[in-house]
Amino acid sequence: MRLCVIGVGQAGGRVADLFAQYNAKEWSKHGNLVPVSIAINTAKSDLMGLKAIPKANRVLIGQTNVKGHGTGTDNELGARLMKEEMHNINRALSVLGTHYIDAFLVIAGLGGGTGSGGAPILVRYLKEAHEDPVYALGILPAKDEGKLMTFNAARSLLALQESADSVIIFDNESWKREGTSVAESYNHMNSLIVSPFGYLLGGGESDSGSSVGVKVVDAGDIINSLGGLASIGYAEREVDGGFSLFNGKSDSMDRLDTSTLCHSVIKSATAPGSLTAQCDIKDAERALVLVSGPPKYLDREGIERARKFLEDAVWGTEVRGGDYPMPRSKSIVGIVVLSGLINVPRVKEILEDAAATQKTVDKREKKRKEMDDLSEYKGKLKPLNLKSGEAA
Ligand code: GDP
Repeated sequence: MRLCVIGVGQAGGRVADLFAQYNAKEWSKHGNLVPVSIAINTAKSDLMGLKAIPKANRVLIGQTNVKGHGTGTDNELGARLMKEEMHNINRALSVLGTHYIDAFLVIAGLGGGTGSGGAPILVRYLKEAHEDPVYALGILPAKDEGKLMTFNAARSLLALQESADSVIIFDNESWKREGTSVAESYNHMNSLIVSPFGYLLGGGESDSGSSVGVKVVDAGDIINSLGGLASIGYAEREVDGGFSLFNGKSDSMDRLDTSTLCHSVIKSATAPGSLTAQCDIKDAERALVLVSGPPKYLDREGIERARKFLEDAVWGTEVRGGDYPMPRSKSIVGIVVLSGLINVPRVKEILEDAAATQKTVDKREKKRKEMDDLSEYKGKLKPLNLKSGEAA
């Protein structure tokens, strides 16, 4: 499956840049999975800090308004600037050409200004202008980032949900690393966001050069598996010596039979601590299961057992599954996409917090309006004589 990845704002740009880096290096043997990567921002310095997205694909918007300095966490401004410069973005997309991609992925940190406001506008535009599905990858702020970030995230999420074919959630609260620098924590989280896509997108590319799986997960499977709110689970088991990216440790599983190995890695991928946004499998309408690793470990019966396990657990009926052989890999990787989620606790929490903030803001605004309009006192007081500068 081939993606056009568009990062909006700082977080969006960084994650899109990592997609471009992986595409050029780690994923290059699987074909060109991300033929187009673009970064859009109101902050010039964020765009300059990117490494892999070509300079020509970095679009600075709102120059006349914010002069390259960003929106200052104002997502209304982010939305307005995106709307005003859609023609520039459209031009960039036409020059790059998007006819050979299977879907768009718009990425943004939902708590800020540029991505939070701009991403929903961009998604709506892409939906209107293109036939291909448009997915959003929304990064939720951590709890300690404050009320404004939470409020912005809630509004952005509601707007994204209206137009995107699916909104994949990544929750910074679950994945932030304590005791490291913010930059390190972001780098770690960004690799967690991007890594699973190599397996998801690569499996169905017939020109990938790797051996072909027994049951290939192709673009159609992924498209049919996504919808509504989604969360992606990832688990890894060392088979010939290796390291688990998500859990930081891995168990040697060689002693297990291959069927149990495939089944267990998928079960691990659905554990709350393995998902980009914590949720319960039973709250998913649809799911996609993918097991990747050296062919000798990919057991058809085990993958089918894992698929069945999910089929019994989700509230809907559609569970797709497949394998992706990687002969030189030292681990078995299980990936699960859960979508059509009817409950994501962190999303609920953000929406509830934001609704409470909105209520307080409305009350205070009413009071402020009353203070602004003091006309009822005008008739009761002798007016100030503005001509002479003295009280009349
Ligand atoms: P914008 O540039 O105005 O769109 O704002 P940001 O992209 O900085 O959005 C702020 C939100 O994104 C906050 O919740 C940050 O914690 C989060 N964020 C910023 N950079 C990164 C990053 O590189 N990775 C992740 N996972 N989150 C980030």
